Amino acid sequence: MIAPRLEIDLDKLHHNAHTLVDRLADRRVSVMGVTKATLGSPEIANTLLRAGVTSLGDSRIENIEAMRGAGVRSFMVLLRSPMLSQVDRVVASADMSFNTELAVVSALADAANRAGTTHDVVLMVELGDLREGIMPVDLDATVRRVLAMPGVIFRGIGANLACRNGIAPDARNMAELSDLATALEATFRLPVDVVSGGSSANLNWILGGSDRGRINELRLGESILLGREPLHREPIPGLYTDAFTLVGEVIESKTKPTVPWGDAAQSAFGAPGPVADGGKIRQAILALGRQDVDPEGLTPPSGVQILGASSDHLIVDAGGVDASVGRELRFQPNYAALLAVMTSPFVPKVISAQTDHHRRPRAHVQV
Ligand SMILES: *Cc1c(COP(=O)(O)O)cnc(C)c1O
Repeated sequence: MIAPRLEIDLDKLHHNAHTLVDRLADRRVSVMGVTKATLGSPEIANTLLRAGVTSLGDSRIENIEAMRGAGVRSFMVLLRSPMLSQVDRVVASADMSFNTELAVVSALADAANRAGTTHDVVLMVELGDLREGIMPVDLDATVRRVLAMPGVIFRGIGANLACRNGIAPDARNMAELSDLATALEATFRLPVDVVSGGSSANLNWILGGSDRGRINELRLGESILLGREPLHREPIPGLYTDAFTLVGEVIESKTKPTVPWGDAAQSAFGAPGPVADGGKIRQAILALGRQDVDPEGLTPPSGVQILGASSDHLIVDAGGVDASVGRELRFQPNYAALLAVMTSPFVPKVISAQTDHHRRPRAHVQV
C-alpha cells in the first residue's frame, strides 16, 4: 500500500465526539468541533456534525472555505482574530468570528454591509494565558462600540487558556468569565447568548463537577481527535487515542553501532547531542521525515525507539521488531505531529469507516 500514509478512522472520531457531546450535554454545555488540525477535511467535519457538535470552528479561513466548498453544512466560526486583509472572505464564508480588535470588527461590519449581510461577533477576553483577548477592564467600552456598528451582531464572549503559557482553566478564571457575561447583560440590557469557556483544556474543570456558571460552550479539537486532554496529555477515559495512525515504510535495515565515528560537526538540523554507547543495534530507516511530520511528536510501536530524523529519513532502533526492508511501522501522532502530517502534501490521507458516519464508500485515498 502507498506509504507514508495517514490512516484516519472515522468510527473512532465519531465515538470520541459523540461521547464528549453526551458528557457535556449533561452539564448543559454544547460542543463546537474544532477542525484546524485536520486541514478542513470535509469527511471529518461531517463525522463531527453527525456525532452532535453544534458548530464547527477553525482558525484559518482557508479551511472554512474548503469545508463550505465541499458542501459541509454547519454554522462555522473563525476562531482566530481575522486579518484586516481577509475581512471580505471572512464575512462571505464564516457565520461568526472571534474578535479582540475594534479596527477589525469595524472592517467586518463594513464588509458585511457591502455584502448586504450581517456577521456575528464574539469578543475574546484575556484571563491570564496572555494569548488573545481584550483586557477585562476594557470589555465594557469595546462592547459599547461594537453594539453601535451596523453589520455586526454581538453574540457573546469567550476565553482561551492553556495555549501559550499553559494557564489552566479553574473555578476562579471561569467564574470571572461568567461574571463578565452577567455584568454585560446588566449594563447593556441584552442577552449574552454565547459564553465560550475554552478548549479541550477545560474538560478536567467541567467534567470534574465544577459549577459551569454561565459557560455554555466548549470548543473541542484535540480531545475529539486524539482522545487526550491537553493539560497533562492523559488519555480521556472511554475515548480512542488512536483514530489517526501514521504508517511509514522501511527503506534500510542494518546492524550498526550506536555511536558515530569521525570528527563531529553540525548535522542538517543543528548540533546533535552525545550518544550513549548501547553497542550494536538493529537500525532501520523509514521513508519519513520532517517534510512529513514533526518526528518528536510520534509514538513508535512498542519495542521500537526513534533515534533521529532528517528531512526525509526517520532512524529507529528496531529492537526485536521485524523492520526489514519493505515492512511498515505504525506511529501515533501527537497534536503537533498531526498538524504537520495533515498539512504535508507528501502524506496521503486514507479515510476509513465501517459504519455510515461519512458520505463516501468504505475506504478511499485522498491525496
Ligand atoms: C485551537 C483552538 C481551540 C481548540 O483547542 P483544542 O485544545 O484542540 O481543543 C479552541 N479555541 C481556540 C481559539 C483555538 O484556537
